[in-house]
Amino acid sequence: MVQKKIPMRQCVGCGASRPKKELVRVVKNAAGDISLDPAGKKPGRGAYLCPDPACLAKAQKKKALERAFGAIPPEVYESLQTQLAQAARPEGTKE
Ligand SMILES: [Zn+2]
Repeated sequence: MVQKKIPMRQCVGCGASRPKKELVRVVKNAAGDISLDPAGKKPGRGAYLCPDPACLAKAQKKKALERAFGAIPPEVYESLQTQLAQAARPEGTKE
């Protein structure tokens, strides 16, 4: 039986290990900007989240992203929540 090895990553919110492509990457670039990286291609330090705003909320509570990126202003969390809600929406349902 040939099984392709799937790269697994851990969600910093709920701690679940899931295939990398099922998670959303959060990235901090060289300029210090933190944003969502749905394509997983932006350069910089990354952390992974389930595409679920609840996991971002958990990560915020645990300060998991602070551990990865350093201090994060509340407005960054707000922006990530918005971006995550959009990313979590299935393809084709965007207005
Ligand atoms: Zn999660």
